[in-house]
Amino acid sequence: MKFELNDYHRNILDQELIQDVQDVAKSLGKDTLTGSEYSLHGKYYDSTLRRRFGSWKKVLEACNLETVGHNFKCNISNEEMITDLKRVAGIVNLESPTRESYDKYGKYHSATLCRKYGSWNNVLKFAGMKLNLNRKMLNEEMFEEIERVWTILGRQPTTTDIKNGISKYSLNSYARRFGGWRKALEAFVDFINSDAEILAEDKCVEPNTPKDVCDDSKENAMHKTSRDINLRLRFKVLQRDNFKCCACGASPAKDASVELHVDHILPWSKGGETVFENLQTLCSKCNLGKSDMQ
Ligand SMILES: [Zn+2]
Repeated sequence: MKFELNDYHRNILDQELIQDVQDVAKSLGKDTLTGSEYSLHGKYYDSTLRRRFGSWKKVLEACNLETVGHNFKCNISNEEMITDLKRVAGIVNLESPTRESYDKYGKYHSATLCRKYGSWNNVLKFAGMKLNLNRKMLNEEMFEEIERVWTILGRQPTTTDIKNGISKYSLNSYARRFGGWRKALEAFVDFINSDAEILAEDKCVEPNTPKDVCDDSKENAMHKTSRDINLRLRFKVLQRDNFKCCACGASPAKDASVELHVDHILPWSKGGETVFENLQTLCSKCNLGKSDMQ
């Protein structure tokens, strides 16, 4: 599964994201954009915007851009999707599968279903399943927050850091869920070290599964991995690079305005895969400079 990992752009206002998409469309003289076009020319990744708004279609709607002419629908029928969800629910013995369990056992990639239905909760709602407010899912959100804080600090966060309000969850919330801050960190480390490889795969490109006809399906078909970098993989790359930009050395720990991205060394659009060796940490400035030069 991909943790549609981490949103490093949480502090950016919707309006700034919308403005950037509109600026890119304007600069290209187009009344609409695909996610790939935006990623190539925009300040952010299309995946960041998809996460914020729910789908690429919703991004276009928010930006007042044309949505006609895009094929947003994946040709997985509702029935196929529901059947497969129920099958996975049976395997994992849960009323409704989490994204993570679905990505482990499901026929499709959860990101594909999320794109089709808007969000994982919508997928479950559509299938008549209970919303997944279960423990596992909440843990993932808390892990995502630990990763964000860890990256900002450039080191393992302490209870003092959390008390000082750097995390959106309080020390008490971590204690209630994991039994203490130390235990929360241990659970986080276990989580980061668990099956990263499985999660990096995009099952949509396997020959036996229906072809995903989302707007980036052509590019997907040339890849073994999904473009999205999951939470685990991203964290491992950040950690390897000491939470610093590989090009200029900037780090959020020294300068709060620095935002770190995990970037494909050989761009995904040129066939680069989403694997540890092909990923590097760059600050948003160097990353933007890099995409300008391409
Ligand atoms: Zn840099």
